[in-house]
Amino acid sequence: MSLLQHWLESLDYDYQILPTCTHVQSPRSSCRECIDHCPEQAIFFKDGKPFIDTVKCTQCSHCIVACPVQAVEGFLPKRTVENNRLIVSNKDVISLKELLVYYQKQVTTIVFKDEDASAEWQEMIKSANESLCELGEAAFTIQFDKAVEETEQTMTRKELFSFWKKDVKNIAKEMAPAKWRFNQESLNLIKYYPDHQFIDFSLNTSACTLCKACEILCPKACIHLTDTHFTVAPEQCSNCSLCEDICPEQAISITSKISPVTQVNYWIRENACVSCEENFKTLDEDEHMCHACRKKKEFLFMQ
Ligand code: SF4
Ligand code: SF4
Ligand code: SF4
Repeated sequence: MSLLQHWLESLDYDYQILPTCTHVQSPRSSCRECIDHCPEQAIFFKDGKPFIDTVKCTQCSHCIVACPVQAVEGFLPKRTVENNRLIVSNKDVISLKELLVYYQKQVTTIVFKDEDASAEWQEMIKSANESLCELGEAAFTIQFDKAVEETEQTMTRKELFSFWKKDVKNIAKEMAPAKWRFNQESLNLIKYYPDHQFIDFSLNTSACTLCKACEILCPKACIHLTDTHFTVAPEQCSNCSLCEDICPEQAISITSKISPVTQVNYWIRENACVSCEENFKTLDEDEHMCHACRKKKEFLFMQ
């Protein structure tokens, strides 16, 4: 299959959930972002994993935007961009994530055809500009231009193949490369703002038992445990909450917050257990009982 054929096919297809979904990684995942953001109730849990009803799905792309780990595969609607200006209509409010990606692609002006931006657009532009301010960037420029036209080029799969059979060269000419049509991978914001983090990572060092479950399951490889340190790279974190969900000690807390990158680094100590007298590793310098003895003591106390 040629590259052109791959590209043409990819322009129109049903959305699907990829194995990178946090529910595939662990049944303890609490993520339901795609389900909560679907306006058609087209996504639901089936056998513990999200499933898309392709009959109900209108390919609005809200689930793609909402998924923190880019596990909903598909393309967003095409957008009209002219001379680094994003041409929009009042009816189609573009997500915050998408606007922040456009900004990094030097599309820093939003053009409306109508004088009055809708309340939804005003709210979205306010959020985008607040985020840009936290990211140390200037705000979007807003323009009104009655003469501009928002163009939309979409084809159903059936139309695509019937056209394709007739005249592949003309289709390639007519359908501009998908430069301004993002897929799920394009929306990984951490790629575009490498000097910033979008979360705050907090660890309860008294509760953590250094079991490494968070390190093993983090889909973005943010967490590393060595013999001497527990480190976190918060700039890689996509706020999927899987580490929070799976930590057996509820030792991790993740909150949304934009700030300059600050590495998280905890020192792992080795102490002697006052009960079994074995050496054990801990993040808490005041802890003098190993995790096994502590659990045993807590269990006996509960009896
Ligand atoms: S938003 Fe993404 S990670 Fe969360 S349930 Fe949906 S597909 Fe899975
Ligand atoms: S934070 Fe939780 S999951 Fe991670 S090592 Fe500590 S106890 Fe284990
Ligand atoms: S650190 Fe936690 S919230 Fe961030 S990507 Fe890894 S598992 Fe998800």
